[in-house]
Amino acid sequence: MKKHLLILSLVVFTFSCKSEKKSNDKLNVITTTTMITDLVKNIGGGDINLQGLMGSGVDPHLYKASEGDVTKLASADIIFYNGLHLEGKLVEVFEKMKTQKTVAISDALDKSTLIGSEYFASNYDPHIWFNIDYWIQATHFVANTLSEAVPEKREAFQLNAAKYAEQLKNLKTNLTTTVNTLPKDKRILVTAHDAFNYFGKAFGFEVVGLQGISTATEAGVQDVQKLSAFIIENKVKAIFIESSVPKRTIEALQAAVNSKNHHVEIGGELFSDALGTSGTKEGTYIGMFEHNVNTIVNALK
Ligand SMILES: [Zn+2]
Repeated sequence: MKKHLLILSLVVFTFSCKSEKKSNDKLNVITTTTMITDLVKNIGGGDINLQGLMGSGVDPHLYKASEGDVTKLASADIIFYNGLHLEGKLVEVFEKMKTQKTVAISDALDKSTLIGSEYFASNYDPHIWFNIDYWIQATHFVANTLSEAVPEKREAFQLNAAKYAEQLKNLKTNLTTTVNTLPKDKRILVTAHDAFNYFGKAFGFEVVGLQGISTATEAGVQDVQKLSAFIIENKVKAIFIESSVPKRTIEALQAAVNSKNHHVEIGGELFSDALGTSGTKEGTYIGMFEHNVNTIVNALK
């Protein structure tokens, strides 16, 4: 009898602790890439506890969860990730999550509109954030997911999402104006890896990546030779390094072009799979996009 009472009181104690946590504590949200962290921050604001796993300059294709990450993930209520096998090495960690809700941002999108890719098990190019219209859809998707989890904050989440979606629409309009100052025949974007296909499709650029669509495969000598011939043939003025990919591959490409008595400049650094340092303009999605477009247009003009 005594034993039963003890168990009962333990159960009651556990339950009362749990309900107390729900009413007082904010939702614990974990995000993977810096783009997703910025997105969720804009919608959740101060009404959620938000922790991003990856920092500036981190390559999500190669990212492995540290022990600290596993602890963070275990304390999460919701985990937002990109999906489409962008975070290739995190998938098995997510599969072990039992009580956490895991939400792929790419589930916000109609898959039939995505760019196909043979490099990923998903068969799609995962660099979806480079289509601003997709990011607007992702904004509403995140707001709905958070609203379901914390219904009493629905109004705040939806209002934040509406404001942010408006900012993204303005961003697209402004960037289109900037891109239109660049003649169509100069819109050739050569970068370290194929992150910019969605960008190219949206803004009318031919996009060529030295490394293929994932950084998990290194570029070979043949790739460098082929691409240097392409640069010379198309009179490409500048090629670009990426903040989350070592710059040696693009430097090798520049050397290959220059060895054939042609000149190609390194047009600057683009943010592809990670935003800039947190707290700077480029540390936000909007600032990153403005930086990339200005850098590209100025170098290719
Ligand atoms: Zn990538």
